[in-house]
Amino acid sequence: MYNLILFGPPGSGKGTQSARIADKYNLVHTSTGDIFRTEIRNGSPLGLKVQSIIEKGELVPDDLLVDILRSALQRAAGNINGFVMDGFPRTIRQAEDFDKLLKETSESVSLVLALDVDEEEVVKRLLKRAQLESRKDDTEEVIRNRMKVYHSQTYPLMDYYSKQGKFQSVRGVGSVDNIFEDICKTIDGSMS
Ligand code: AMP
Repeated sequence: MYNLILFGPPGSGKGTQSARIADKYNLVHTSTGDIFRTEIRNGSPLGLKVQSIIEKGELVPDDLLVDILRSALQRAAGNINGFVMDGFPRTIRQAEDFDKLLKETSESVSLVLALDVDEEEVVKRLLKRAQLESRKDDTEEVIRNRMKVYHSQTYPLMDYYSKQGKFQSVRGVGSVDNIFEDICKTIDGSMS
């Protein structure tokens, strides 16, 4: 199986590119942000628990992610090609839990591919998206907080995966098509 993590700050284009990657390589696309947004829309107990956390731009506690991951992996189990993770892991603890979970089925992370975009550019993109999608976590104040959280809690994952020789990045600025082309080159290179 080919197990890809698409990595990068909020607004770096992970959602758009993950969908394309999943389509081209026949991988199961899992976005933890989308899972939470669906739970919130459905008013489920999990949705009610995480709503205010997400609206503040904070991270959902790590222990709530394990169960979500387990069911996402079970869903992906029917697909022998693998998956693309979008928005997960976001902390070292999540990455460690994930490694353990994958080990249970003799799997591992194949590649962590980062979309490299400057902070001012992602803030600009997120503010634009806020107008289009009216996401409550896309106000300027919450966006700045999400960036702060990204730097303090998620950024260290680069080092975690670099040490495993699994980390690569592509420039995430330019046309969606050109960025996708660079992504595919990197994925193809890592497969051969
Ligand atoms: P996203 O759409 O990936 O930017 O996720 C939206 C929000 O959902 C984030 O700002 C977090 O509050 C929450 N979230 C999504 N994925 C995770 C995760 N792996 N760990 C903790 N919180 C998450």
